[in-house]
Amino acid sequence: MSFAGAIFDVDGVLVESPHERAWIETFNQLFDTEWQDIRQQAGYHPSRFTHEVYLEHVSGKPRLAGAESALVHLGVPDAAQRVHRYAELKQHRIIALIEQGEFEGFDDALRFILAVRDMGIRVAAASSSKNAGLFLKQIRLDTFAAAQGKRYDFVSEGMSLLDLFDADVSGRDFAQGKPHPEIFETAARELGCSPEGCLVVEDAMSGIEAAKAGKMTALGIARHDDADRLDDAGADLVVTSLDDVSLEALRAGRLERGA
Ligand SMILES: [Mg+2]
Repeated sequence: MSFAGAIFDVDGVLVESPHERAWIETFNQLFDTEWQDIRQQAGYHPSRFTHEVYLEHVSGKPRLAGAESALVHLGVPDAAQRVHRYAELKQHRIIALIEQGEFEGFDDALRFILAVRDMGIRVAAASSSKNAGLFLKQIRLDTFAAAQGKRYDFVSEGMSLLDLFDADVSGRDFAQGKPHPEIFETAARELGCSPEGCLVVEDAMSGIEAAKAGKMTALGIARHDDADRLDDAGADLVVTSLDDVSLEALRAGRLERGA
């Protein structure tokens, strides 16, 4: 049996989103404005919110949980009262960054999704984030394919990555988020595919777990030196670049690493 559908997470799989930058810039902005009076008490310095702080305390967490964790760790007084304002401004900041095009699509992911679609496999987007569409509509597939020296009869002039999807369930309010399989089950249904005929591409443990709970094949993309964690979560294959997936095997319905 070959794959009938492929379901893609967005953040970390298709695009590198500017979450870290938005969290850090908003933190510094608040201390320059509304929180100026607590600068001393908080021991504030613009260099304190580092990449390591982001990875350890914010990354992968829901918005409010990440905001509170960062504020507590950085010693901000009355963190619980300030968390909503911080999260709200961070959301404004990230939307502004996305609208300014301050993010990157992953070339390997674009090559992969075009090849998959070219095999006749139907494709869906399934991000938990309500921002996903903002990214997807800014990535141009016609210019990307041309730059790669590729021609596809399904890529038309001005086509965006958002236009490529046969189904998009991103940002919907499901009763339970990943690792519950509901988001992927809904995507499979909207593609008109059985779960067993679907491949899910994910960069997070919760997403791999959701795919397996939904009886789907799970492909883990480890972009942060975290292949072991995706393996432990039950991925059928983990790669560090989607270029490493064998397209020949995929066409035959098998998920394998290429030569
Ligand atoms: Mg992700």
